[in-house]
Amino acid sequence: MAKKAKTEQSAGKKKQTTSKQTEQKQNRKKTTTGKQSAANNKQPVKKQEPAKKKQTAANKKQNTAVKTKQLSDSLKVIPLGGLEQIGMNMTAIEYNGKIVVIDCGMAFADDTLLGIDLIIPDITYLKQNKSKVKAFFITHGHEDHIGAIPYILKEINVPIYGTKLTIALIRKKLEETKLLDSAKLKVVDYGQKFYVSDFKVEFIRTNHSISDAAAIAIRTPAGLIYHTGDFKVDYTPVYGDAMNLWRMAELGQKGVLAVFSDSTNAMRPGYTMSETTVGERFDALFAEHQKQRIIVATFASNVDRVQQVINTAYKYKRKVILEGRSMINVIETATELGYINMPKNTLISIDELGNYPDNRIVIITTGSQGESMAAKNHNKINIRSNDVIIFSSNPIPGNEKAVANVMNELSALGAKVVFEQTHVSGHACQEEIKLIYTLLKPKYVIPVHGEYRHRIANAQIAYNMGYDEKDVFLIDTGDILELSEKKGKVIGHVQSGGIYVDNSGVEDVGRSILDDRKDLSERGVLIVSVCLNTTEGFVISGPEIFTRGWVYDGESEKLIEDVRKIIYNALVDYLSRNHYNRGKAKMIIADEVRKYLKNHNNKGPMILPFILEVEQEN
Ligand SMILES: [Zn+2]
Ligand SMILES: [Zn+2]
Repeated sequence: MAKKAKTEQSAGKKKQTTSKQTEQKQNRKKTTTGKQSAANNKQPVKKQEPAKKKQTAANKKQNTAVKTKQLSDSLKVIPLGGLEQIGMNMTAIEYNGKIVVIDCGMAFADDTLLGIDLIIPDITYLKQNKSKVKAFFITHGHEDHIGAIPYILKEINVPIYGTKLTIALIRKKLEETKLLDSAKLKVVDYGQKFYVSDFKVEFIRTNHSISDAAAIAIRTPAGLIYHTGDFKVDYTPVYGDAMNLWRMAELGQKGVLAVFSDSTNAMRPGYTMSETTVGERFDALFAEHQKQRIIVATFASNVDRVQQVINTAYKYKRKVILEGRSMINVIETATELGYINMPKNTLISIDELGNYPDNRIVIITTGSQGESMAAKNHNKINIRSNDVIIFSSNPIPGNEKAVANVMNELSALGAKVVFEQTHVSGHACQEEIKLIYTLLKPKYVIPVHGEYRHRIANAQIAYNMGYDEKDVFLIDTGDILELSEKKGKVIGHVQSGGIYVDNSGVEDVGRSILDDRKDLSERGVLIVSVCLNTTEGFVISGPEIFTRGWVYDGESEKLIEDVRKIIYNALVDYLSRNHYNRGKAKMIIADEVRKYLKNHNNKGPMILPFILEVEQEN
């Protein structure tokens, strides 16, 4: 490991590279988006394919170039997600013509992606090399690590390895699909060593906010890759033992080529508090509010947190109600396997809510990210004054405003909202990251699981510990990072990105559809409906005009009446002089409306003409 004292100057130099890299990244994104939207225009399904093929061809060319250059035994690591945002974690590791993949996660869509539910990684590279892919190794059961499995398994059905709870949560996920029967799910124990092709694999215990979280050590003839998974160092975890620091030190002594490390909290100094500190806070809050109903909002996947609510509820002789589909699913699975200890007669169903006084009830719900608690699915709970509502999670970036709105809404109903010191992160802060670099002593450091700002903060930790810039890699999704004892280098790039999945489960919603949705949300829509006799050439009825989401001023009624007349006259004129053509008639409607609105300085809505054609029977 090359050591070097870090100066202000070289830190500054690194920053320059940063903005350049970001720029390059943005350019690359722009090109892809441009290509797709041009290709997708109007008829997304049919026209999309050539664009994809084009990209694929380009990539193939690139891949072949890489192949000719590479040595047969080179070790390559290709992140396919997890580097632009927190979410969609997926990393391919390739050695000697075989590929194994760590994690298979999804990302939640932000507000700008209208109607999009989730994003999964683009796995074109894996599909192109399908026969080489041998296994998935999953670090833990959070959505950003397992969420894409139902989609990706359809394309690549290879064995999936994980610890007991992780595999159980994957199984639960697959139950909702038809894939469960064909899925090859393999439970592994911590410390168990097994081979997949040339890869010798070991799952190592870590701490996080869910039980059974693991780091993964993959030994290849070219060196050992250590992927931390999501982790924190918790000496007093709620379930199980502390992180296996002893094994990490042992691996460090034998020699670690590269560490891929969780960057989520790399901007935060110090240590992350133990999960058990939240339990102490719950205890104090339950003691303080013994007469009121208590509602705790948290992530369903935060199994250890839910356990602490259950423990406190039991101590204060309250019944527990789980609310929300994912909450019930995850906690049921964890309870069946013994990862949640639910004392007898503690859990009741939401339908039994009325059978108990307020001060005997705790409701654990998923609504911690700004979903309205007063909304329909919470009707049974019916929030009222005197309720105590504990928010036990931080808002995911982007959800802050929605969460604040819900807190306001609840306070307005007279409920007491508590959010101070009711959450600790499941991710390592700076001092913990230093600890694992010290124990593992890797030759290379590759910050993952984070936005660029998180990853550069993680890189800075390595620099401060004496790592040389050339041994710390801030790579982009899709980069092919070749690693050997001698050096590490990005030698190419594969197709990568996100595939949008909308709430109906449709995969690959094209950019043009999203543009339409955005357009609609900004401009609204004007629908023209008219019935024409196409044989004789006259207007039978209409046009009628409907608008949705279109903002117009006080003269609106006159405006719409004028638009109606203009369309009518234009159609009469057209039909009297031409043979009817539907496309042409629609175009005339749209053109006339647009022209009129433009003259009236109105930012026109999207115009959708509907023509009902009646043919006269002879
Ligand atoms: Zn996690
Ligand atoms: Zn994660």
